[in-house]
Amino acid sequence: MKTVVIATNNAHKVAEITTALDFEGWEFKTLREMGVESDPVEDADTFEGNARIKARAAREACGGAVAALADDSGLEVDALGGAPGVYSSRYAGEDGNDAANNAKLLRELDGVADEERTARFACTLVFVDDDGTERVARGTIEGRIGYEERGSEGFGYDPLFFPDEFAGALTLAEVSQEQKNAISHRGNALRELKSQLA
Ligand code: IMP
Repeated sequence: MKTVVIATNNAHKVAEITTALDFEGWEFKTLREMGVESDPVEDADTFEGNARIKARAAREACGGAVAALADDSGLEVDALGGAPGVYSSRYAGEDGNDAANNAKLLRELDGVADEERTARFACTLVFVDDDGTERVARGTIEGRIGYEERGSEGFGYDPLFFPDEFAGALTLAEVSQEQKNAISHRGNALRELKSQLA
């Protein structure tokens, strides 16, 4: 059995990762399941840099002889020069306050016309194998930012994000988790990593 530590305790991410990377003989463990804690300072200025910090820290916390996988993701809004980017979870100040982040995003885009509200979610995965070999996979999803929150599925900026795939009719918070995974930045990054590892 090959053990891969996932550098998160987020149940949604764990489920998505284990479903996507369904290689025979692989078992995934969260940090909690490994009985370790790892909460490194994510001070890189790219998603890749932060994912690498998390993957390496998780691997070290587990003694160094296992494989580790970490992701980092966020929203890039073109009219805001790519913000909030790596600061997505703490855009409004407090880490992980989705309502405050969404309110701030709408304020910042006040008066910005439809065609200039283009944005994308980006996700970078860093996989460090048990021998230290590293693989990096990136996925994106393009769309536009709306004018008010719509839908109650998902998390984060989902209620404001209209993926191009839905032709502007639905936000990512108005579809099931399966429909989201099929087109999402994290889903696309996982499919890319899977093909690299196959
Ligand atoms: P992290 O990669 O889990 O640290 O996510 C960073 C932040 O980006 C989250 O707190 C959200 O604000 C935002 N984000 C990342 N992925 C998504 C998504 O799939 N939907 C909505 N917001 C997201």
